[in-house]
Parts: sequence; C-alpha cells; structure tokens
Amino acid sequence: MPLAESTRQRVVVLGGGISGLTAARELATKGHAVTVLESGDRWGGLGTWFDWNGHSLDQFYHCQMPSDDDLLQLIRDIGLGDSLYWKPTRMGFVVGGKRYAFNGPMDLLRFDPLTFPERIRFGVVSLLLRRLGFGRDLDRTRIEDWLVSCYGRPVWEKILRPLFTSKFGPAAGDMPALYIWERLGREKNTVSRGYLRGGLRTFLDTLVENLRSLGVDLRLETRAGTIRETGDGVEIDAGSALIEADWCVSTLPLPVLRNCLGDTPLAQRIRTPDVPYQGVVNAMFFLRRPLDNYYWAPVVDSGTEFDGIVEMTELVETSHYGGHHVAYVMKYCDRSSPLFLEDPGQIAARWTQQLLALYPDLNLQASDIADVRVFKAPFVEPAYPLGYSELKPLIHDGESRLFLATSAQVYPKITAWNSSVRLAKEVARRLLDHMETVPRTKRTARLPATVQV
Ligand SMILES: Cc1cc2nc3c(=O)[nH]c(=O)nc-3n(C[C@H](O)[C@H](O)[C@H](O)COP(=O)(O)OP(=O)(O)OC[C@H]3O[C@@H](n4cnc5c(N)ncnc54)[C@H](O)[C@@H]3O)c2cc1C
Repeated sequence: MPLAESTRQRVVVLGGGISGLTAARELATKGHAVTVLESGDRWGGLGTWFDWNGHSLDQFYHCQMPSDDDLLQLIRDIGLGDSLYWKPTRMGFVVGGKRYAFNGPMDLLRFDPLTFPERIRFGVVSLLLRRLGFGRDLDRTRIEDWLVSCYGRPVWEKILRPLFTSKFGPAAGDMPALYIWERLGREKNTVSRGYLRGGLRTFLDTLVENLRSLGVDLRLETRAGTIRETGDGVEIDAGSALIEADWCVSTLPLPVLRNCLGDTPLAQRIRTPDVPYQGVVNAMFFLRRPLDNYYWAPVVDSGTEFDGIVEMTELVETSHYGGHHVAYVMKYCDRSSPLFLEDPGQIAARWTQQLLALYPDLNLQASDIADVRVFKAPFVEPAYPLGYSELKPLIHDGESRLFLATSAQVYPKITAWNSSVRLAKEVARRLLDHMETVPRTKRTARLPATVQV
C-alpha cells in the first residue's frame, strides 16, 4: 500500500547485484522511494549474463541448492517458482592429470591419490566432520589445524590444501574452520542442483520488472562516488548527478566502499575491515561433445592454471546453448595478479591447450571447441581472518544513515545468492525498524531524490 508522503522515505541502494535488488524490493514493497545505482551496464553483478549468438547466457556458472530457502522464496515471490527445475548431478576429481569419479564409497575406494588407510579415514571423517566440530571455537581455529587433526597431514597436503588454496589463495589454511563447517551440509557430492529455465537473464528481467512495478528508480551505468552524511540524510556523488536520500544501503565490496567513504567523518564510524578478496578468471568453453558429465570437478596438480571444471550441461539442456555442451573452468586469484591482468584472448588460447591435454582418452580436439569466452571479476571471495565473527562489518553502527549488505558480512555462511538474499532482507528489516525510531524531518518528505549538478 502506498505510504503518505510524510511517511515515505528515500533510500538509495548502491550496487545492482542480487543483494541490492533484493534490498530494493523489500524497501519498495513497504512503500518507500528507492533508487538503485549500478555502475555496470546490466543488472546482476556476479550473477549477470551476456549475449552469445542470440542466446542470453550466464557469465559465471550459477546453480541453486535445495537448502537455498531465502532465494527459493524470492524466486516464488516474483512468480518464477514453476521455472525452477532440479536434477541430480555428480562430482569428479582430477589429480595428477588422472580423472576420477568422486560420488560415494566405491569411488573413494578407487581413489588412488590416497593410500588405502587414508581413503578409509577420509570416508569416515567426512561422515563425522560436522559432529567433530561441534562445541569447538572454530571461528578461532585455523582450517589447516582443524582438518589436519581430523584427516591427518597426508590428506591435507594431497587433497585439501590444494582445494582450499585454489579458492582462497595461499592464506587458505589460516582461515577460520567455522567457514568450512558451515559449508558442510549445503553441498554433497551427489546432489540435486536447481536451475531456472532461461538462466540468470530470465530471473533478472523478471525481478527488475517487479521492481519497476513497485516504482523503484533503476539506474544503470551510474557509479557511486563519495558518500556523505548531511545531518538528516545522505548525499551520493554519482558523476553527473548528486543523489540525495534519507538512507543509503551499500552492497559494494568493502574496498570499493572504503574508497567511497574516503576521509569523510562517516569513514571513522563504519567498520570496513581490510579483508583480502579473491577475484576470479573464468573461461566458458562451448564444446561440440560432452566431457565427463560431472557437474563439478576440482583439478589438482594436473598442469593446468585453472583449478576446477564445471560442466554446466550436466544440469542445463544443450539447447540453452544453441546445441553446444558447456564447461566453465576457473581460477580464483588476486585482482592484481598477472593472470587477472592478462589479455583474455591469450588466456583462452593457453587454457584451450590445457583443457585438451586433460582428456587424451576422449581424443578431445581443438575442432571440438566451438568458442571460448573469458570473464573476470575482481571481488568474489573474501579470505576471512581468524575471529572474523567479531571483526565483520556491522549492518548498522546504530547512528548513521548508512546500512551495509555486502558479501563480506554473510560469514560464516558461504558467499552465494542465498546468503545475499537473506542478508539483504535482514538489512531492509533493520532499516525499516530504525526509520521508526528517527524523528521525521521536512526534508524526508521531499521527493524525488536527485539534484543535477
Ligand atoms: C564464478 C562464480 C560462480 C558462482 N556460483 C554460484 C552458484 O552456483 N550459486 C550461488 O548461489 N552463488 C554463486 N556465486 C556467488 C554469487 O554470485 C555471489 O555471492 C553474489 O552474486 C553476490 O551478490 P552481491 O549483490 O552481494 O554482490 P555483487 O554481485 O558483486 O554486486 C555488487 C554490484 O555493485 C556494483 N558496483 C561496484 N562498484 C559500484 C559503484 N561504485 N557504484 C555502483 N555500483 C557498483 C557491481 O557492478 C555489482 O553489480 C558465484 C560467483 C562466481 C564469481
């Protein structure tokens, strides 16, 4: 129901990924005047899409898990519940150039990178791992210390260290074990994964249409600059426009937010810990034939720069990709690393050779690869320090006009759409509650939110 002008407040949301769009929806549903600023030329952030020969395809592989309650609710709320389907998927493992199935006890018994006793220990400990962590202060226990104590040093060195390092970089062993413990249970090797017919574009188009119907002012190619408090509101420097609002919700990665806060008084009050982020380089291969039909296979010590393969057509029909099979391969790395800065064409050429070399038995040839697209993202996985539960940014400092909903706050939950949707809803709820406690000003009633400069 529309709010009276005197009650309606103006909120500017920074970032048009899933966090920003969800927060905007929650606030607009309650009748507030919401503006979303997104620096890119399309919505979705890390979950966005691109055009390929007339098909709208996901830039980065995305699937849904059965435990994604908040995301699944959002999907239903915007009317896409019937477009979601589920399919059992399998996992592989590539070690030393050899490819293994990795889906159950029989596969584990055949997994010869580990000795027989190590395989038995691996299986038993994996079944009990969640219970083994119970009651321990895992937020202050290093992943390496915990997993070595559970699995033994050889399993850590041969399998687990390469796996974690591939995602979080060289400091992976120093991260809090709580992050892994929380992850247990979301993912199993053989699991039903979900996908929305039409992919991320269908989801985003529907969500954005829903936001428009709620009156949200959606601005692409609008980069937020300095954020300033003005006493009874906030001002955002957005290039050719100065955006005034009563409240701001930032979903920007912490380093970007720190830049926006600069040396303003707000910067002193908002907790933005200096957490290193891993970025990602991701190559999407369009193939004329399938690979192993494992949705996901980590790649360890196999002469490749990429350290994982996601065969998306294990989950999605090839018709979605113009009849092609699709495999994404990825390397998580720092945004200042030589790989991240390298020309995409060179990466595509080198990774093509590396992919071909992994499948000699399938006689995979260059002619089996119809196309390769390389995408990069600078801020994906925060590499959390020990004790991060007490260091992580607060949703709100209790006083300012700025609320935070960034992926670096979802800890100990994993960085995923579901975590972002849950956080964004919580942030919107906290902001709505807080609005009630703050006396209204004349300025609050003035709409719309923009002053041209
Ligand atoms: C390779 C890969 C695979 C993944 N697979 C899955 C999966 O299978 N399932 C799953 O649930 N999740 C997956 N994720 C994680 C998921 O994509 C993220 O957790 C989620 O998208 C984070 O959303 P966000 O809105 O918090 O951040 P982002 O998506 O990063 O959104 C932030 C937005 O802010 C914008 N922005 C930045 N600076 C400014 C500025 N100054 N002004 C205005 N806007 C700005 C950015 O352009 C971006 O759109 C994957 C991610 C990657 C990279």
